[in-house]
Amino acid sequence: MRKSTFLKLKMREARFISRALLSTHHPVLAHLIPMRRCNLACGYCNEYDHTSKPIDLEIIKGRLNKLADLGTSIVTISGGEPMMHPELDQIIHHIRVRGMIAGLISNGYYFTPERIKRLNKAGLEYLQISIDNVEPDEVSRKSLRVLDKKLRYLSEYADFHVNINSVIGGGIKKPDDALTVARRAVELGFSTTVGVIHDIDGTLKPLSAKEKDIFQQVKKLGNKDHARLNWFQDSIAEGKPYNWRCRAGARYLYICEDGLVHWCSQQRGYPGISLDQYTMEDFNREYKTEKWCAPTCTLQCVHQVGILDNWRDPQKTPAQIAEEQKNGKGVGEMIGAD
Ligand code: SF4
Ligand code: SF4
Repeated sequence: MRKSTFLKLKMREARFISRALLSTHHPVLAHLIPMRRCNLACGYCNEYDHTSKPIDLEIIKGRLNKLADLGTSIVTISGGEPMMHPELDQIIHHIRVRGMIAGLISNGYYFTPERIKRLNKAGLEYLQISIDNVEPDEVSRKSLRVLDKKLRYLSEYADFHVNINSVIGGGIKKPDDALTVARRAVELGFSTTVGVIHDIDGTLKPLSAKEKDIFQQVKKLGNKDHARLNWFQDSIAEGKPYNWRCRAGARYLYICEDGLVHWCSQQRGYPGISLDQYTMEDFNREYKTEKWCAPTCTLQCVHQVGILDNWRDPQKTPAQIAEEQKNGKGVGEMIGAD
């Protein structure tokens, strides 16, 4: 990434963070799924299929327009494998046209010099690739040996920020691989983070002593900003619950391929309202709703968004909210929404 592009991006980020601290009335980050299909089938993943079609560009643009109208700061395109969408460049371009930061999460398989140059031109600002192991196995083929050539292309041609996420837990057999992946990422000039993988049902599996040790070593190699934002991971790695306020459905939105708003990839179905019809009343209700799954949640990006508001606006359980609704209080009064 060129220095001038990097500085511009950092300034835009600083503006968005100040805005998020000053006002709680807009989403900070939305994950948008333009197609569920994936070329891989990782053993721990519940977010893909092998048959679905790409969502039409005009429909995606309509969803991006709604996110922009809600005041969303960052849109990250995810999947499935979003690089399989034939109009990904136009999707990225439209995010930028609407003034939002454009990010992408990919398994890395489709990067060629030509494809990277097209993403530069479209205005991509962030890319994250998760690499699970060094050699492919039956759990995952997101492997350093397979992807190293792609990483070299990215190092040479990408004019966007690249983060390589290595992973621990969730059935990954060789935890030492996370260290090898992180070292290679640093060598190629990328930032690096480490994630604790959730189980197939989205809950936490405690790390072994060896996994914990590797986890700490990889964290030391990584991006200092991310390490500061991800201290929840220390509790999770110890198998201890973490106390925080998840703002999914409000400050963080997960928009599936059908255009429905969900709390996140692991809690699809709640609230399950169409983005078209999503109002600030929905936003305020979800902002104040305590999530039962929060104490063992491993989703880094939702934790990072949560930090912005963790110090304000305590939450209520869905049962408390339902009880108050039964007693005749309006949603606004009940959750103290302004
Ligand atoms: S590459 Fe990503 S979306 Fe595809 S199966 Fe693996 S984890 Fe799931
Ligand atoms: S705590 Fe929030 S982000 Fe984590 S699984 Fe639950 S709803 Fe999703």
